[in-house]
Amino acid sequence: MFGYMKYNRVKNFINGNFTSINSEKILTITSPADGTFLTQLPCSNSSDLDEAVNAAKAAFPSWSKTPIKERVQVFFRYKFLLEKHLQELATLGSEENGKTVSESIAEIEKCIELTEFACSLPQLVTGETLEVSRGVECRIERVPLGVVASIVPFNFPTMVPNWTIPNAIALGNCMIIKPSEKVPLSIGRIAELLKEAGLPDGVFNIVHGDAEIVNAICDHAGIEAVSFVGSTKAAQMVYRRVTQNLKRCLALGGAKNHLLVLPDAAPDMTAQNVTASMSGCAGQRCMAASTMVGVGPVNHIIDKICMEARKLVPGENLGAIINKASQERIERYITEAEQQGAAILVDGRNISVPGKENGTYVGATVIDYVRPDMAIAKEEIFGPVICIIRTNTIDEALAIENANPYGNAASVFTQNGGAARYVIEKASAGMIGVNIGVPVPREPFSFGGWNESKFGVGDITGKSSIEFWTKLKKSTTKWNPEAGVNWMT
Ligand code: NAD
Repeated sequence: MFGYMKYNRVKNFINGNFTSINSEKILTITSPADGTFLTQLPCSNSSDLDEAVNAAKAAFPSWSKTPIKERVQVFFRYKFLLEKHLQELATLGSEENGKTVSESIAEIEKCIELTEFACSLPQLVTGETLEVSRGVECRIERVPLGVVASIVPFNFPTMVPNWTIPNAIALGNCMIIKPSEKVPLSIGRIAELLKEAGLPDGVFNIVHGDAEIVNAICDHAGIEAVSFVGSTKAAQMVYRRVTQNLKRCLALGGAKNHLLVLPDAAPDMTAQNVTASMSGCAGQRCMAASTMVGVGPVNHIIDKICMEARKLVPGENLGAIINKASQERIERYITEAEQQGAAILVDGRNISVPGKENGTYVGATVIDYVRPDMAIAKEEIFGPVICIIRTNTIDEALAIENANPYGNAASVFTQNGGAARYVIEKASAGMIGVNIGVPVPREPFSFGGWNESKFGVGDITGKSSIEFWTKLKKSTTKWNPEAGVNWMT
């Protein structure tokens, strides 16, 4: 039906080699940007997973015993390779995900920053030693868990995998990654670069597939810990299943981020930030602005947001939506809000991009007079859409923010420090921005939301991730040969 396929059929990466997947279930991968037939993805089964776990298990004794200062040398070289292949990785990521090449470049730059953090891990995991009584020493050291798994979503084909790969592996674990079945290509290049950087075979493995292989990962007795990033529904399922199997799990879910805009906010800066936050990666970011809560008279800022939104041209400086089903879902939300009385100030429905007619696009959309009870105000949209809810007070705005079940990010735009501080205190989200539309903490600060945006303890990146990927060994040592000495004194 599709004819020419641009890339070879996707393979797993096990024990340092690409291996064919024998499966009847084969998914077709097309570019959301223009519909180009990219590749086919056969879905792995549990015996493919067994093979990967066995390879990782076999690699673990040697890798975990390699001193950490030696392990991070791989990541110094990997960082250099990411820099060297930045443009190529960005082009591939843009092709399979549909985001613009410049968004994809920013994604690879973030991978470089994540890798730099991993290179600093030897300074952060030095352990602790104390002489607790005469001649007796207590020592705490961090040791790796063993074989761990990382399950990732479609929206950042390289960045989200790199939230976990450098830290988990530099800390001595061996990893199985399950990429999104919607974007299976970039991760193969990451495997090649890790190998070129000197990572021993079996330390990093890829098992492609869909929900079936996710379930197999949750249940696999050889896997010690599972990190997950994706929708809240899947995150809840994975968290329940992994912890039911008595293993550790950190599962990041969806989001519905609120930006509170006060009348004293700097108009141009605010309009640019709100628009960039809702439309970057076509709104397919867990940190995207979804609802703007206008506190008092903010029409002058809304006018500027509409002007900014109209500057976004799908297929040029606004990327594609991952697939037709998502495009239709986003358009349904907009239509339903319109039918319920909201005002569509900028309408991104029914877009056709000349020359990319088979691409899936939604234009930037600004919707005013949204009410908190509308579906578009309550649910994750995951498209370039900003809903504006009007309130009179910060407390009303915060009540709306607090009532949403998610808790990834919230931001406030104001020149008033007291008001900003109040929002930091009262917003129910893990990552707060003041005059920043996408408040992603930079390394070494960690990334993670609250409420239904994250299940489990700790965060997925930065210093907080060290806890997740290691366990503590406590040793108490005495070399005094005398008998009859009470060593507790
Ligand atoms: P998704 O939940 O559909 O898929 C994520 C992963 O889970 C994929 O690898 C997929 O194969 C697997 N999966 C999907 N359904 C499953 C099921 N029923 N059982 C078991 N496994 C399943 O998410 P997506 O559409 O790829 O990504 C978008 C979602 O990810 C959004 O909700 C977004 O907010 C969220 N996200 C969150 C963060 C965060 O940091 N909180 C970051 C990026 C994306």
